[in-house]
Amino acid sequence: MSETTKWTYLFSEIMHAQEEVGGDWEAVRTLLGGKGANLGDMTRLGVPVPPGFTVTTEACNAFLAAEEVLPPGLWDQELAAIRAIEVASDRRFGDPDAPLLLSCRSGSKFSMPGMMDTILNLGLNDEVAGQIASRSGDECFAFDLYRRLIQMFGSVVLGVPEDLFEAGLAARREAAGVEKNSDLSGEDWHFLTDHFKRSVRSFTGEDFPADPYEQLKLATAAVFKSWNGKRAVEYRNASRIPHDLGTAVNVQMMVFGNMGAESGTGVAMSRNSSTGEPELEGDFLLNAQGEDVVAGIRRTRPLSELQERMPRTYEELEKIAGRLETHYRNMQDMEFTIESGKLWILQTRDGKRTAQAEVRIAADMVDEQLITKKEAVQRVQAEQVDFFLHPQLEPTDERHGKPITTGLNVSPGAAVGVIALDADTAERWSKRGKAVVMVRSETKPDDVHGMLAAQGVLTARGGRTSHAALVARQFGKPAIVGVSDLEVDIEKRCIKIADQVIEEGDWISIDGTHGTVYLGELPTMVPDLENPYLLRILEWADEFRTLGVRANADYPGDASRARSYGAEGIGLCRTEHMFFETDRLPIVQRMILARSVTEQNEAIAELLPLQRKDFAGIFRAMDGLPVVVRFLDPPLHEFLPSHDQLVQDLADLKMQLQHFHTMSEMDDALDEIRMKRDFLERVNALREVNPMLGTRGVRLGIMIPELTRMQVRAIFEAACSCVREGVRVQPEIMIPLVGHVRELEVQQAVLEAEAQAVMDESDLEIDYKFGTMIEVPRAALTADAIAGRAQFFSIGTNDLTQTVFGISRDDAESGFLMYYIRNNILASNPFETIDRDGVGRLIEIAIERGRSVRPNLEVGICGEHGGDPASIALCHEFGLDYVSCSPFRVPIARLAAAHAALDAADDGSR
Ligand code: ADP
Ligand code: MG
Ligand code: MG
Repeated sequence: MSETTKWTYLFSEIMHAQEEVGGDWEAVRTLLGGKGANLGDMTRLGVPVPPGFTVTTEACNAFLAAEEVLPPGLWDQELAAIRAIEVASDRRFGDPDAPLLLSCRSGSKFSMPGMMDTILNLGLNDEVAGQIASRSGDECFAFDLYRRLIQMFGSVVLGVPEDLFEAGLAARREAAGVEKNSDLSGEDWHFLTDHFKRSVRSFTGEDFPADPYEQLKLATAAVFKSWNGKRAVEYRNASRIPHDLGTAVNVQMMVFGNMGAESGTGVAMSRNSSTGEPELEGDFLLNAQGEDVVAGIRRTRPLSELQERMPRTYEELEKIAGRLETHYRNMQDMEFTIESGKLWILQTRDGKRTAQAEVRIAADMVDEQLITKKEAVQRVQAEQVDFFLHPQLEPTDERHGKPITTGLNVSPGAAVGVIALDADTAERWSKRGKAVVMVRSETKPDDVHGMLAAQGVLTARGGRTSHAALVARQFGKPAIVGVSDLEVDIEKRCIKIADQVIEEGDWISIDGTHGTVYLGELPTMVPDLENPYLLRILEWADEFRTLGVRANADYPGDASRARSYGAEGIGLCRTEHMFFETDRLPIVQRMILARSVTEQNEAIAELLPLQRKDFAGIFRAMDGLPVVVRFLDPPLHEFLPSHDQLVQDLADLKMQLQHFHTMSEMDDALDEIRMKRDFLERVNALREVNPMLGTRGVRLGIMIPELTRMQVRAIFEAACSCVREGVRVQPEIMIPLVGHVRELEVQQAVLEAEAQAVMDESDLEIDYKFGTMIEVPRAALTADAIAGRAQFFSIGTNDLTQTVFGISRDDAESGFLMYYIRNNILASNPFETIDRDGVGRLIEIAIERGRSVRPNLEVGICGEHGGDPASIALCHEFGLDYVSCSPFRVPIARLAAAHAALDAADDGSR
């Protein structure tokens, strides 16, 4: 990079920029930022865009790397580019007779609405403003512009607190006896301009710079610096935008939406950003400058009113929206300004939208032949599907009572929580595990951390395109804005809705789908998967994916839900969950405490009918789909009271003994003591130093073969009775925690004998598979030997991650692991996304060795990773047959599996 590096591109030079980076549009966006690239692109398309130029993101990175010094050559190039704007506009920067005013706008590759800085109206000083006023005869216009410049420049570039300006405004409104800024007169604005200049001088000790070039130079540097501003950094963290992209700077001729009744400014979406309906949607203000709309300071009007007031302009806007959609093949979010009847487009970008809108637009665009099915599937992010399974308020009935108020339904879903009135409180309470709903007058970019921490957001002001609405939609937070009868009293820490006072900390429920607000903590429910657009996207996903998707389900209800969400089988049915049910726990405890084998077998026999019923229910729900049943896995002490609790209870009982008077009281207490002692004795006997690595998994079945026999019998009796009912069954029986093939052999012998016995008794043949989990390194390394016995593998990535790393998840996640991640010792949590190099490598070895012995070996994964899109991509790559995850993640997994297949195909064709 040197004097000769090209740091600036005129909008009209977009072809040149594209050639420079080799023709790739993504690279243009990297260089010029999304805003700059699209301003150039629109200029090329003939859309009316005020002339201007873009300073590259490379210049920003050079500036930041050089400790905030503008790179050599940049300023001269800016000057030359200004000359070009002067020619195009027939005005001159700093010339009072034909003044050119400029905006200086941030814009990075990925849109970060409101997170960085923009300064409007550069080029004004006393002389220029005075001339504009006298030539136009409109002092109000001239000095409103000027005070805005000082205000924005003052706070952004010079660091003068915004409050100082706001206080000045408020004082002047009071003196003039008006409520709104728009009612202030030219004289008021003139006064405020001088007042603001004094505020700048008293705060910074220096004068507001009167030289337009000085203004632009400082503004350019300030926009560069805003890349590293706190809120920009937080936003990038939350949206996973890389920190090294830098921002471009767009310098552009100002056009004026505040030139009277034929002028205005607004934001338009080419489709409805909440529902995806194909209709122009947006907000605008007459006689205003751009930032008034987004800030939610003035009450905006819906675009339909523009259609009434200026039908021709509206029609032109609609046409441009259509053209831009066709060009970008995506829904557009546009900023426009009307200057004395003339329409200008100031920005276009792919619009942020709700998950609901995303799937509808993707499906609609396939019908409109704008995109292919493959693109539609790729466009919807797997995590977006999660939204459709988010809780919603239960359907309205009397229990809800009436909503206390309503507002604009800008981001769907239900949020139930306690009211928090500022972002820090919302964050603090949520960290303590409280569900909160953040309630504000309006949200600002500084409030993002609170929005992220909250379940949902409620604001008094703002329209569909306000900051709060935009950010809420992006992060999938239910939100209602523009609640006109909501007042927030920050001082008294309460809100008022139509005379009703509600304290901070009280419960509130909001329904972002319908825009209704309720008092108290309303019940929510998980919706069915019935959105027709989503169902189409998922169907298309099924056409593309090659990985199977199963569910982890322990109960018939879960199994049916999983099936309705598209699961192709059960990948893991954990039988221990059946043991924890209240009617069974005492029997299980008796089995564990038994002093003789006979006693133990009696207890086990009691469990048989109960387990049989469980399995039959699941087989019926899955009718014909494969069901993997895993034998008892956890260490037995988990079924007993804790050691410490028993010691405590015994101590208490002994104390009480001294106060009893009657023999029968004494007897009862002694009985109880005896029982607790028995418990304690067994608990002590069973106590292990390292239960996670102790008597659990296959080791249990080997030590208590009767348990294995009972579980086999329950499975096969259930299967036989289902078959008799006409239900098809496909059991796959799975042994957990195997490390040595001999363990498998011992269990297999018990299992086969018992299975055969049941089948003989019922005179039926059940087609079943026998397999194992791969969850300790030795199993993976000796997978060839194990596959000699096992017909299928299921990778237990939870235990495998624990044993490969040698860390216990419960201890790690509440301790050092989080430190590791915060300090970049590990890039991500290996319990969330499979650790590719360690755990992943072992999985590959297991599959390779297993299939070398048994080529058609079925391999699945059943840890929580099975529902994680990044891990699903790895599973596809490793050649697994299926992933299995919680029923709620099944639709996500279907889409993620399609993405994995499509991405792999794309890579292959490159
Ligand atoms: P943001 O990324 O926060 O939207 P922008 O750079 O887009 O920041 O600008 C903020 C507001 O100022 C927008 O409403 C925009 O339309 C308006 N604006 C920016 N440049 C101009 C200009 N040259 N003329 C008129 N309005 C402008
Ligand atoms: Mg903008
Ligand atoms: Mg396990």
